Amino acid sequence: MQKNSIDYISTRGNTPPRTFSEAVLTGLAPDGGLLLPETVPDVSSDLSRWRNLAYGDLATAILQRFTDLPVAELEELTTASLQPFDHAEITPLQSFGKLHILELFHGPTLAFKDLALQFLGNLFAYLLDGKQALNLLAATSGDTGSAAIAGVHGKPGIRIFVLYPAGRISALQERQMTTVPDHNVAAVAIDGSFDDCQAIVKKLFGDAEFKQRYALGAVNSINWARVLAQIVYYFYGAFRVMERTGADRVRFAVPTGNFGDIFAGYMARRMGLPISRLILATNSNDILARFFESGDYRLRKVQATLSPSMDIQVASNFERYLYYRAGGCSATVRQWMQTFRDHGQLHLDSIDGRHIDPLFKAVSADDPSILRTIADIHQSTGYVLDPHSAAGVHAANREGLDGDPVVCIATAHAAKFPDAVRRAIGRPAVHEKLERLKTLPTREHRLPNDADAVRDFIVRHVE
Ligand SMILES: *Cc1c(COP(=O)(O)O)cnc(C)c1O
Repeated sequence: MQKNSIDYISTRGNTPPRTFSEAVLTGLAPDGGLLLPETVPDVSSDLSRWRNLAYGDLATAILQRFTDLPVAELEELTTASLQPFDHAEITPLQSFGKLHILELFHGPTLAFKDLALQFLGNLFAYLLDGKQALNLLAATSGDTGSAAIAGVHGKPGIRIFVLYPAGRISALQERQMTTVPDHNVAAVAIDGSFDDCQAIVKKLFGDAEFKQRYALGAVNSINWARVLAQIVYYFYGAFRVMERTGADRVRFAVPTGNFGDIFAGYMARRMGLPISRLILATNSNDILARFFESGDYRLRKVQATLSPSMDIQVASNFERYLYYRAGGCSATVRQWMQTFRDHGQLHLDSIDGRHIDPLFKAVSADDPSILRTIADIHQSTGYVLDPHSAAGVHAANREGLDGDPVVCIATAHAAKFPDAVRRAIGRPAVHEKLERLKTLPTREHRLPNDADAVRDFIVRHVE
């Protein structure tokens, strides 16, 4: 059996290369950068063969190109990770004329993050093999936390601490975390924004001694395994829409927060999937939209919107994209990140003489546009979008549906966001998985916006 020997390197260039397994357990690189495969496999010649594969087989084929795991075990991991999904196709494509919606919400927590986090949970358990302990620490703007918890609850040797902004995630999202009874799970409300939660996580990961001593691991979208698992549905969705429309190129419209989902699309394109455009949709927190319009990456205050999982300013995966924009030059990445840290802004146009990346088109959707999109699509098709997916559909409509087909990524089931949906169409969507949560007992923790308080909390729980 051919073993894959792709090494993982840091965007900032000051970390020795690691294997896939090491990269998964490392999370953030010690030099502060993000890990990436040293080379991106070109799979152009595999596409015709991959076209007809079922989701699970396609996942194994793609993952195999990036990992050092034996194929049989990879296959087992893939199968186990897809088993909790409630749709035979895993990510079915719904088409209404020229509107194509790739549903990524058939996993246990009804958001697309299940696709990555079921895999990551099983991968961690496999890599630790009952011999090592791991304490996962994550910040969530809503959906990551519940999906991460669903991926690892009850797994021996693994504990998970999830920080979320108090009062800024939906009541149902909170219940999805606080109703999990397993003792290896702690969901902690922080008095601050998502970016504050993320800053605490970054700070604790930056404390090398603490990280080592308490075997901290990451599940946030900086973990390479998450990006990797997400690459699969770009292939799957592209194949389905090509089959349905006869097109040989596709566009994707992607609701974006941490730039994790859309970065997986970017990788799929680098691997040779014929994606002619990535339509990046943000809500009013539009730092990424502004960047792709002007080359200007500038921090603003986070605003609370109807699509809370996108209420993000500092997109943690963006550095991976910048690495490719810098032509793989980590010295340039270091300099850009330094500038951004020092000044809260960065202009790329003055550096590489070209500020627009023609692959991307960015569109921001404010709350009224999102509500209007949910209402319009419901009226014309009967289909109910969640507010995040609606931002993507809004962006796709702006870009225009003529030409290469657009696959709109639906990142959550509408029932997760009943208030927004009620405002749009007069009634909430329902899902029996969520109805069941309403009667379960909860366990709640609350801490101030302070890294030391979180550090103490972890120490108390582990010891
Ligand atoms: C996380 C999330 C997003 C944003 O995805 P990123 O990978 O952070 O860009 C969009 N929609 C929903 C429902 C999410 O949970």
